[in-house]
Amino acid sequence: MKLGFDIDDTLLNLREQAFRIYNAKLNRQVDIEAFHALTCISVHEPFGLTSEEGRAMWDRHRDEIYDTAAPFANAVEVLRELDRRGHEVYYITARTAQYCERTRRSIAEIGFPVREGRFFCGMGDLEKVHIIKKLGLDYYFDDKPKVLDTLGELELAVYVKDNSYNRELNMPRIVDWNELLQLVDEDERM
Ligand SMILES: [Mg+2]
Repeated sequence: MKLGFDIDDTLLNLREQAFRIYNAKLNRQVDIEAFHALTCISVHEPFGLTSEEGRAMWDRHRDEIYDTAAPFANAVEVLRELDRRGHEVYYITARTAQYCERTRRSIAEIGFPVREGRFFCGMGDLEKVHIIKKLGLDYYFDDKPKVLDTLGELELAVYVKDNSYNRELNMPRIVDWNELLQLVDEDERM
């Protein structure tokens, strides 16, 4: 089967890492509960920053956030297992062009299976749909409502990776990556 994955906040716990870095850089101790309560994608609000200040904060520390974000529990293990079983694992990330090569390298270093021709990067959020369609994926996973909203017409199984800002979305949901192996197993039995 062909499975496509967004990277940030789908496979990598990027926002939580940003939240931790903001605490450290601003010398604050904002409780992680404030992070888990966020209903928006940006994480600057609990620090009392305006959106402009939040954007500047993000830009200033983006390299460090990208370089140090950890994968969600079981993400690496499950994708490796899928790859081992012969499934095709694709990555589709809207990180900007200047970060593409570095991102491909770093997710491979973390242990994600990255095979030739299966890493797509640098498109806009709203362009992902065209790649997903062209690849003929069986499954696609993303965290962002704006992206998921564009996929309704496609004939594939779309799942939202559970995050505090996407709980309103009424669609199949992955909370822990362990659930995916079971999904694929069930699919293959049908
Ligand atoms: Mg994402």
